[in-house]
Amino acid sequence: MYLEIYQYTEAAFRSVMNIPDDYAVLFLAGGATGEFSAIPMNLLPEDGIADYVDSGNFAHGAAVEAKKFGNIRIVASSREENYVRIPAFSLSDLDANAAYLHITTNNTIFGTRYTALPETGDIPLVADASSNILSEVYDIRKFGVMYAGVQKNIGPAGMAVLIVRKDLLGHPRANTPKIYDCTKQAEADSMINTPPTFTIYMAGLCLDWVKDQGGVSALEQVNIEKANMLYDCIDNSKLFKGTADKEFRSRMNVTFVTGNPDSDAAFVKEAASNGLVNLKGHRLVGGIRASIYNAMPIEGVKKLVDFMKEYEVHHV
Ligand code: PMP
Repeated sequence: MYLEIYQYTEAAFRSVMNIPDDYAVLFLAGGATGEFSAIPMNLLPEDGIADYVDSGNFAHGAAVEAKKFGNIRIVASSREENYVRIPAFSLSDLDANAAYLHITTNNTIFGTRYTALPETGDIPLVADASSNILSEVYDIRKFGVMYAGVQKNIGPAGMAVLIVRKDLLGHPRANTPKIYDCTKQAEADSMINTPPTFTIYMAGLCLDWVKDQGGVSALEQVNIEKANMLYDCIDNSKLFKGTADKEFRSRMNVTFVTGNPDSDAAFVKEAASNGLVNLKGHRLVGGIRASIYNAMPIEGVKKLVDFMKEYEVHHV
């Protein structure tokens, strides 16, 4: 009975992401953080090397976790600039023998995203797309692996999805725990042990919703409109200032400040009393952050923009 539910969700996910047959799709407990470990355990040989781009807190965390398993090189980092942009790098900066290059397509806390994917030649591109999967169209063929915690755009918390090109499977570290062994998980339809059944079921329903919206390409258009509306408001404001470099602005997480932490807090509080909740920036950076994932309708963003304009009149 359950297998039908699992297969429904997998088929729906393959359909909305347009995933070719030579890629396996896994639904795994442990969230994206679990995959920070699973990636090197499955893809990095004992004596191998992997390249990581440090573009934010989670990108950094992925590299820190991977270092437990082997030789990790940080190809580029914007850490010293408070992660306001995606750091620049090119193919020649990569180690020709790297097992993979790891990137984070959208940096949830800092509000930046890769506006173009890096050129990696024959080196498989591994991407943590936790906070922008299903928000824009990706050609999965450009990736060796894409993974994501599901809790932003796919379904309720408690799971990660992993899309992996099948030829990359088959070489896990000898001591890889079996629940982290992507090869075994792929052979077992992600059911080496009891899978997150309810989350998988709910993800299937959310994917139906994605289809009803017209699919990822239709959602992408709405997301562009939502983000533009908010960034226009910020750019035309005398009170609010965007924190991310314009070239790399996220469409999912819009980060901004007033320039004064007390004023930021006052704005967040008054917004909440007007029904606009969860605008406090991540505890690591403070400020203000509007996370406008797929589930946030355009009307919600309009309401926020109207509130910001009105607030500005009284607080500049
Ligand atoms: N990567 C990114 C980009 C994230 O935004 C998050 C969570 N917000 C994580 C990784 C960690 O995900 P999880 O909580 O599913 O382990």
